[in-house]
Amino acid sequence: MEDEEYLAKAKERIISSLIKHKFLKSNRAIKAFEKVPREEFVLPQYRSNAYSDTPLPILESQTISACHMCIIMVEEDCLDPQPGDRTLEIGAGSGYHAALLAEMIAPEGCENPGHVWTVEIHKSLVEFARANLERAGYSDRVTVIHGDGSKGYPPEAPYDRIMVTAAAPDIPEPLKEQLKVGGRLVIPVGAPHLWQELTLVIKKRDGSLKAKKLGGVAFVPLRGKHGFK
Ligand code: SAH
Repeated sequence: MEDEEYLAKAKERIISSLIKHKFLKSNRAIKAFEKVPREEFVLPQYRSNAYSDTPLPILESQTISACHMCIIMVEEDCLDPQPGDRTLEIGAGSGYHAALLAEMIAPEGCENPGHVWTVEIHKSLVEFARANLERAGYSDRVTVIHGDGSKGYPPEAPYDRIMVTAAAPDIPEPLKEQLKVGGRLVIPVGAPHLWQELTLVIKKRDGSLKAKKLGGVAFVPLRGKHGFK
């Protein structure tokens, strides 16, 4: 009980701070952040730090991104996921970011719910993400796939939204191909472990891509065929 009260207060505090610092802006993102229990997606030893605004270690030396970074990526001026969207995430990790997406593309009571497919290269993290998503009540809206997400996930393509939560040397060609016309893709592009540019890509009506740089970020590297070797 004490634990629950502590977490509820910590969550309230971080929400106020994220709003004050203009990370959380839209009602839809605020609602999604309020709904998802981040404490169910961190390792048990970090439970009390679930609402500290820092990345936290998960398995395989990977990390769950800081709260503000998770929000930057899903806000209206970035990925902007809509109810009903078919959404692909690369890098399931803990499953937390996929749950945030699920709240935005398939909120409770939504008549036309979308779906999230999230690809993870490490088997242990596939199991971690699946267990977390199931416990938190998202397994109907999120499917975790074991594989190399740098190749996308062709069986369910094309997608309205694609979000890559690992740093890539460039935008993988298969992801460009698997994006619908009018669709949005967000991906950190740059050097492994150091500094990358968060890049938003919009596929225009004629199929061409318009890229916009949104600022510097630091993500773990994307591995696999179109990632870092
Ligand atoms: N979105 C996650 C955190 C991502 S950390 C969360 O909410 O917790 C980046 C993740 O990308 C790691 O779990 C890493 O194992 C995974 N990854 C790296 N290269 C990958 C690839 N080629 N395909 C799929 N997953 C990959």
